[in-house]
Amino acid sequence: MKAQEDFAPRWERSVQANYGAPLVTFVKAKGSIITDSSGKKYLDFLGGIATSALGHANPAIVEAVSNQISVLSHVSNFYMHPKVIELAEKLQELTGDSNARTFFCNSGAEANEAALKLSRRTGRIQIVATQGAFHGRTMGALSLTGQPAKRDPFLPLLPGIVHVPFGDLAAMRVSVTKKTAMVIIEPILGEAGVVMPPIGYLRGIRDICDRTGTLMVIDCVQTGMGRTGVWFGYESEGILPDVITLAKGLGGGLPLGAMIALGNAAKLFKPGDHGSTFGGNPVCCASALATIREIEDKNLLGHVSRYSKFLKTSLASCAGVKEVRGAGFLIGIVLKRKNAVELRDLLQARGILVNATIANVIRIAPPLNVTKSQITTFLKEFEIAAKGVNRGTTSRA
Ligand SMILES: *Cc1c(COP(=O)(O)O)cnc(C)c1O
Repeated sequence: MKAQEDFAPRWERSVQANYGAPLVTFVKAKGSIITDSSGKKYLDFLGGIATSALGHANPAIVEAVSNQISVLSHVSNFYMHPKVIELAEKLQELTGDSNARTFFCNSGAEANEAALKLSRRTGRIQIVATQGAFHGRTMGALSLTGQPAKRDPFLPLLPGIVHVPFGDLAAMRVSVTKKTAMVIIEPILGEAGVVMPPIGYLRGIRDICDRTGTLMVIDCVQTGMGRTGVWFGYESEGILPDVITLAKGLGGGLPLGAMIALGNAAKLFKPGDHGSTFGGNPVCCASALATIREIEDKNLLGHVSRYSKFLKTSLASCAGVKEVRGAGFLIGIVLKRKNAVELRDLLQARGILVNATIANVIRIAPPLNVTKSQITTFLKEFEIAAKGVNRGTTSRA
């Protein structure tokens, strides 16, 4: 097998530098185990950033995708095919709103772009988003994103968008008026370090949106598809938004995004208003349907809720851990020191993949079907690595 070093110079000579140097070259995977080009195996506790909902090479997905691509792979949106209808019906059922209508695209940014355009159809242009939130990197989605480091090099962005502090209902109340087209909100800030809002925050925003006739858009790109132990991250607040955006886990590892409009919001788009060549592609829809079926058949929502508690309590007692936050299998491990990168590197050397979201936060987002014994292995390794970095005895790979 090729050594990892063979790939890095070729990547540098052929791929743009927008990501910084990638960490490892992976060649294959099965379930929650992923293998690099030297044959070393890792326990994948990042899941392609909350994307590989059922891990890798899940038999149900492999079968659904193989069947679909051998029968019908693409038709364009001039035509229908059964899988896109089946998936839209399934998403409608999961939202619990028979008026829900879905627009399909290929990514989270595109799903939020679609929501942005939908909101223009209210006749209003002002938008309220939150500081720290991540909604994607295309110009519209970036205008919604509340992270100056990602925005500043690309100013000017869309006008009419204000960012209020996340979790601050009073700020929301002041900023949202009868001129506001939409409020966009992540139920839990994912990229900003798994930050939870106070209880009642989403319910409060729902009230404000109702009073002002504003669309409430919930970006469930990271917190949807069972990631938090329920289908959509807002369910814990007992509300229904006007728009839900999905991507990441939706396609079970294939690129698929969705913008689901509920109630009257579902009537805002008219023919010709929006489109996407690949949106609702049969192969990606087949993969999403297999993913949803597997989550239901194996009761993975129950599995996630149960082991989430176990993971959180166990992690909280590890060396150097200040706080453990998040819901389901989206967990932020807040460290006492700003040594998240060091800890990530040590874990990687020991065969565990996690991500250093910010300087003092490690994020884990394992596949929803990660096994109990894999969770135990992760905890054992995390404990050793956490002791290691806090003793200052890091050995780098
Ligand atoms: C990842 C993410 C996005 C962007 O998704 P892409 O598929 O990378 O465009 C948008 N919103 C949230 C909450 C995300 O986590």
